[in-house]
Amino acid sequence: MQNGFDFDVVVVGGGPAGSTAATLLAQHGHKILLLERDKHPRFHIGESMLPFSEPVVQRLGIDWSEGNQFKSGAVFIDENTDQRMYFPLSVYRKTYQLERGPFDQKLFENAAKHGVETHQEEKVLEVSCQSGGVEIVSDKGRYRCRYLVDATGRTALMGRKDRTIDRIENLGKFAVYTHFEQIQPGEEADELFRSGSIYVLVVDIGWIWIIPLSGRRLSVGLVVQKERPKDCEVEDLLQRYLAASPILNRLLAGARQSAPIRVEADFSYTNQNRHGLRYACCGDAAGFLDPVFSSGVFLAFTSAARVADRIHQGFIEGREADPMLHAVDDEEYLLGFNTMRLFVERFYQSNIVHNLFFEAHRDPDLKDQIARLLSGDLWVDNNALQKSLLASRPMPG
Ligand SMILES: Cc1cc2nc3c(=O)[nH]c(=O)nc-3n(C[C@H](O)[C@H](O)[C@H](O)COP(=O)(O)OP(=O)(O)OC[C@H]3O[C@@H](n4cnc5c(N)ncnc54)[C@H](O)[C@@H]3O)c2cc1C
Repeated sequence: MQNGFDFDVVVVGGGPAGSTAATLLAQHGHKILLLERDKHPRFHIGESMLPFSEPVVQRLGIDWSEGNQFKSGAVFIDENTDQRMYFPLSVYRKTYQLERGPFDQKLFENAAKHGVETHQEEKVLEVSCQSGGVEIVSDKGRYRCRYLVDATGRTALMGRKDRTIDRIENLGKFAVYTHFEQIQPGEEADELFRSGSIYVLVVDIGWIWIIPLSGRRLSVGLVVQKERPKDCEVEDLLQRYLAASPILNRLLAGARQSAPIRVEADFSYTNQNRHGLRYACCGDAAGFLDPVFSSGVFLAFTSAARVADRIHQGFIEGREADPMLHAVDDEEYLLGFNTMRLFVERFYQSNIVHNLFFEAHRDPDLKDQIARLLSGDLWVDNNALQKSLLASRPMPG
């Protein structure tokens, strides 16, 4: 290659964002290296998808319905007040609940099928982005390329290196979760697997997700926003809240826990430097939000597609060393990210779920506006709820 480059683009991180960026760049005809520190299939949380990911999934040329549970919508439930509200999501576009290990492996292998050189079990240690090119040092080699895509998830390679990660306070502090299998037949379970909806149970210290997976399995997790009760270890907290929920008692009767209890903390941040000289971040490397509205993989797909298309355009226009190459796309990204951020913040404000979500049946327009946000239909100018969220307070850029 010209100027001694080994690749046009090196993509660091082989999750949904990295595999998407790499595949689309290869489809544009560029020579791409995709580096992943783990070996697929590796466990990853984040199983509930949004319908407006579908256009990007179609560009990747994969069938994401294969072996996965169809997701019709989202149901918000307060068991204390016996309120329940269903929002249909797979209306114009379809989406799924899926296990991330096999799904991420499929995306990664799909990148290879499109001509991407893929390396697993190779961790990137250092990067240096200069006007003349990018140097990358991993634990297995050194590479020189024209452009870097940081898709390292919450490791946020560039953001942590440059100390540009800002925590978003007041959202979920940590999550504790596990999986169950052999969910027994019964009215509650049969309805859950028929609709494939995600259930979000509102509880005093945060919320619980119930995600039906193919093969009559369930992913169940508790996200804690308040201080953790001092009399209880994190693992016991999950058990305590599962035991206190009548719905979960019905669903889990006779079921078997099939995974360890896992904990993830330190969610929700923005990365102030999402792009710069010869690099761009996508997916969680650009920012991460509390997962109550399942926006993570959707933002990973859409941000990766935007980054890949812009790098291609930059190569064509000879603008690859312009640090502002991604400026316009970044505004688009922020429109989506900030909408979700403000919506999640609202979710945690007292009574908003009761006043907005559970009251939506009285107001079909409001119900439609909420459903569109929950679907990921964010880049529009006719959603009154989105407009009022964005107008409610200025967001940092
Ligand atoms: C508790 C919880 C629940 C969630 N629930 C949902 C949900 O229901 N729906 C949803 O859409 N999202 C959910 N998410 C968010 C979702 O998991 C992420 O948004 C999504 O995985 C982002 O994809 P990504 O490709 O950006 O990052 P990742 O999927 O994390 O991929 C990044 C990859 O980079 C690799 N990597 C990191 N550093 C290096 C390095 N130095 N060198 C090489 N490789 C490296 C990692 O091994 C990893 O494979 C949830 C998150 C949490 C914490």
